[in-house]
Amino acid sequence: MRLVILGPPGSGKGTQAAMLVDELGVPHISTGSLLRNAAKRGTELGLKAKAITDKGELVPDDIMSDMIEERLSREDVANGFILDGYPRTVTQAKSLDVMLERLHKPVQEAIHIDVDPELIIERIAKRALEEGRSDDAEETVRNRMRVYAEQTAPVADYYEDHGLLTRILGDGDIDEILQRILSVLKVNASSD
Ligand code: ADP
Repeated sequence: MRLVILGPPGSGKGTQAAMLVDELGVPHISTGSLLRNAAKRGTELGLKAKAITDKGELVPDDIMSDMIEERLSREDVANGFILDGYPRTVTQAKSLDVMLERLHKPVQEAIHIDVDPELIIERIAKRALEEGRSDDAEETVRNRMRVYAEQTAPVADYYEDHGLLTRILGDGDIDEILQRILSVLKVNASSD
């Protein structure tokens, strides 16, 4: 299964992607985690990226595309992947298509998790207390939501135009949302 999970900051896509690993048996690739790990290790790229993510801006497409290409070349993605946080711009979506076409392994499904913006602010405020992510400060979150609307929402439209997108509601408890995703995958697999 080659799946892309989309959704605004705080939509729970990372949580759902992590839970889908057990269900689908393919790795969860989160570009946000890759960037945070690089920052923790103190690599040049990691520190440069941290300065950008802390403002709620996007890391440049060429850096992200190199990062994802390296990750997708590892052996554990032979049976597929769950992509979380990539692609985040239409340029990234196009370069991912080129990359995967070369491997004869195109994206099969894209799921967008829709969440009410009020709920997002509430969830992220809670996560800021629990996890202390430096990009969860209130001003940064507002900017991330703005950047999402301008640059990432069009990625959902891109997959919709390619007939790959299903939108699901991201309210309710975590298990309920997971079941919604699984039933979309099941229905679509049986109609393929
Ligand atoms: P969230 O989905 O809650 O915003 P992520 O962990 O996915 O959090 O991403 C955190 C930050 O990392 C983003 O706000 C952005 O600055 C950066 N980032 C992650 N993935 C990408 C990407 N594909 N392109 C550019 N920047 C990215």
